[in-house]
Amino acid sequence: MAQAEWLGRYGRGRSSRYDQGMPAQDSPSTTTALIHHAYTPPEDFAAPQPGVFKASTVIFPNVAAMRARDWKNKSGYTYGLHGTPTTFMLEERIATLEGGLQTVLVPSGLAAIANVALALLKTGDEVLIPDNAYGPNKALAEGELAAFGITHAYYDPMDVADLVARITGRTRLVWLEAAGSVTMEFPNLIAQVRLCRERGVLSALDNTWGAGIAFNAFDLDGQGLGVDVSAHALTKYPSGGGDVLMGSVTTRDEALHLKIKLTHMRLGLGVGANDAEAVLRALPSIGLRYRAQDQAARELARWCSGQAAFAQVLHPALDDAPGHAAWRAVCGAADARGDGAAAGLFSVIVDERFSASQVDAFCDALKLFKLGYSWGGPVSLVVPYDLASMRTQWPAHLARGTLVRFSLGLEAVADLQADLAQALAAALGG
Ligand SMILES: *Cc1c(COP(=O)(O)O)cnc(C)c1O
Repeated sequence: MAQAEWLGRYGRGRSSRYDQGMPAQDSPSTTTALIHHAYTPPEDFAAPQPGVFKASTVIFPNVAAMRARDWKNKSGYTYGLHGTPTTFMLEERIATLEGGLQTVLVPSGLAAIANVALALLKTGDEVLIPDNAYGPNKALAEGELAAFGITHAYYDPMDVADLVARITGRTRLVWLEAAGSVTMEFPNLIAQVRLCRERGVLSALDNTWGAGIAFNAFDLDGQGLGVDVSAHALTKYPSGGGDVLMGSVTTRDEALHLKIKLTHMRLGLGVGANDAEAVLRALPSIGLRYRAQDQAARELARWCSGQAAFAQVLHPALDDAPGHAAWRAVCGAADARGDGAAAGLFSVIVDERFSASQVDAFCDALKLFKLGYSWGGPVSLVVPYDLASMRTQWPAHLARGTLVRFSLGLEAVADLQADLAQALAAALGG
């Protein structure tokens, strides 16, 4: 192909001054020519990675097309906020990852939770939230939802009878989380979802931990029993880099999806194409990363179980962990070797003979584990939590002491174990 032809087809225009070695001129016609530029997206450019398409405005060929296109489905493009080829592609892939049919993208995992709540709840309704839920989900219920006249109650995630007792005629939505944030108890998800179905209450799972890999939220029992809605912080595993904030809401029911999509539009939620592309770029390796961090977390959780300073180690794959049998029931089949699957996270409860400031000193002494929120990225992270302030009461299945959560990055496990050992020796006499 001649150079001029190549330039004409792939971007720089038919009469580029640059290619003729002429300096650009700041005339009005140059300005117009720079905007109305002869660029045709390369249809025969079959690269493995999708392109990044950025738009607020989408140009229609004529008024009839402008009026005909429907922003509510993927039959055409109308406005950047309603979708671009890049965001549509990511929506399709997240739906595929999670076993859903429709997905909307939002600017964070928390926005996904809010999108679900605001789409499905109205004044007079009640939402039930597990007591070990992601903290800001509770904060949303206590803040905006309460102000809108939507009540909430916290249920014991480890006691299905407690959930049964709390469902009333006003209960519209039940949040589920497996495993629970920070304390990692795995609930009896199958019984919880079956109950919601029987009582005609919508169920929404915060699926960030399972990430579409540890279990299929839309088919928990292999016979099609599934949640109604899956909210996912793509910030964690799908991004994998610790550098993107994004969330998704996935469904299998068209009417439910449309409800969520309408609220999504009215709240003006959207994501940038560069962020969507970053997630698209990381998605092919999500399975490998998930398993690597799973293996590392289990290895270190087992090692921590042998350390005298830790009164309890919380990881659902440990035999004595709260909810271990429930974890095995839905995550046990996710691994061909029968090991099951789990996110690369675990917590320890530092024995109550150590003060909170000694635990802080332990966290400060860690060198490879960095102090920071979130997980799923390449860097291992640690956070001390004040559990008493996060739960309605101290759960009977948890030892007393100070909780520290670790999230595994991609460093060598031996180095991470050595880091834990030196911090234990320095701060907790271990
Ligand atoms: C991180 C997280 C969220 C929120 O995601 P952001 O993108 O940080 O808003 C929601 N749920 C769980 C379980 C999380 O871990």
